[in-house]
Amino acid sequence: MTRLHKGGCACGLVRYHVQGNPSICQICHCTFCQRRSGSAFATVAYFDERDVTFVQGELKQYQHRSDESGRWLRTEFCPSCATTVTHTVEVRPGLRAIAMGTLDDPEWLTIQRHIWVQSKRSWVSIPEGMVTFPKAATA
Ligand SMILES: [Zn+2]
Ligand SMILES: [Zn+2]
Repeated sequence: MTRLHKGGCACGLVRYHVQGNPSICQICHCTFCQRRSGSAFATVAYFDERDVTFVQGELKQYQHRSDESGRWLRTEFCPSCATTVTHTVEVRPGLRAIAMGTLDDPEWLTIQRHIWVQSKRSWVSIPEGMVTFPKAATA
């Protein structure tokens, strides 16, 4: 049986369900994720877009174009509390990223790798043996 997990924004307006497991589960230390989140890194789980269902609320969208690659990234957030719940990227068609902190049970997932570690904050430690990429992941 496929496991169903639920999540949503801070105010509760936006709610979603995900089924199955993510194909990628990563921490992104890029400067855009640092800025957009107001934090040190982003926690990102990529699911098949067909496995993510928005069951409540409407999301607003912001499109960013990478300075480096020129490709787009679209973040989607709650219009009421501004929590970024999900995003899609030009390089990963068919996949939808869920911000792991919006899951009702964020402990469910395991981080597989850290990307963009070249711009990681100096006070953030990465566990020994973790897969890392200086920039974007190659797969
Ligand atoms: Zn909200
Ligand atoms: Zn990033």
